[in-house]
Amino acid sequence: MKNSFHLNTKIIGLLGHPIKQSYSPFIHNVTIELKSLDYIYLPFDVPAANLKNALKGMVALGIKGFNITIPHKENMLQYMNDVSEEASIIGSINTIVNDLGKLTGYNTDVNGVFETLNPYKDDIAGKIVSVVGAGGSARAVIYTLIRYFKPSAIHIINRTEQRADALKKYFNDKMKYDGIKTRELFPPDLVETFSSSKLIINATPVGMFPDQDDIITALENSFTKEQIVFDLVYNPPMTKLLKLASSRGAEPISGLKMLVHQAAKSFELWTGEEMPTDQIYKSLQLFIGD
Ligand code: NAP
Repeated sequence: MKNSFHLNTKIIGLLGHPIKQSYSPFIHNVTIELKSLDYIYLPFDVPAANLKNALKGMVALGIKGFNITIPHKENMLQYMNDVSEEASIIGSINTIVNDLGKLTGYNTDVNGVFETLNPYKDDIAGKIVSVVGAGGSARAVIYTLIRYFKPSAIHIINRTEQRADALKKYFNDKMKYDGIKTRELFPPDLVETFSSSKLIINATPVGMFPDQDDIITALENSFTKEQIVFDLVYNPPMTKLLKLASSRGAEPISGLKMLVHQAAKSFELWTGEEMPTDQIYKSLQLFIGD
């Protein structure tokens, strides 16, 4: 890490509560160092009650941009001067750019999902996809699938089925997509739904540290060797779900890939510079010790 800062060093950072588990400072500061840029990325632990003041401070201090994480991703929209098209449809932002006091909100999770799945684009087109979860990241996943990957159908599978139904209606209204079916997350009934899916995506925190023994389905017949299984959970990078799917011959994709790609888009929005994503991905694996 560089140890001298100059009069022109620009600040970017992370705003959330709590933020102690985040890998974003590592990803961005290593990129800054690799590219010899005059930036620094700092974490700011800000509870909801201080959000408005934090944004006033951002403008007053000329902070160039923030990543936004839990619990502010939805709440933050109201404070933006402008919101990108995808963030407006998804209803949440994870990146703010401060352009001389004008704040624009973006959702770069879309880029994270897009870049991660892009190598499999031809495999996914016209096939069935199962998405487990109906929260904020599921919305970014479903938006990206509909917009860029053209699956024949999307199953939204959620613990609380009404939330999946609400998403089905939401995407029908917002994107005129009528290929969504909904199911309750109840594994014995889901083997056929999962096994007939070309792509299974976990967009829940199930399997995340410290509960890494949890899994959305432990039924190994859910997985086939033709499948791609993408877990948004990135800690641990190889989740129990990915290990089980992989043991059945499926192609596992770690949430760590998406984490780096969403960060790359935020970085580009703030600095105009490209992140060397392969190099950062490898550094992150070493840092985590995976
Ligand atoms: P969220 O908005 O809180 O949504 C959580 C979803 O998970 C809901 O559908 C919830 O179901 C379900 N869920 C939670 N606990 C569950 C459990 N024990 N069993 C079954 N379902 C459960 O969260 P989010 O922002 O979408 O994030 C979800 C995960 O994605 C997190 O692990 C996050 O770290 C990860 N993520 C990763 C990246 C990346 O770059 N890799 C980016 C964004 C998010 P109910 O509706 O029934 O409550």
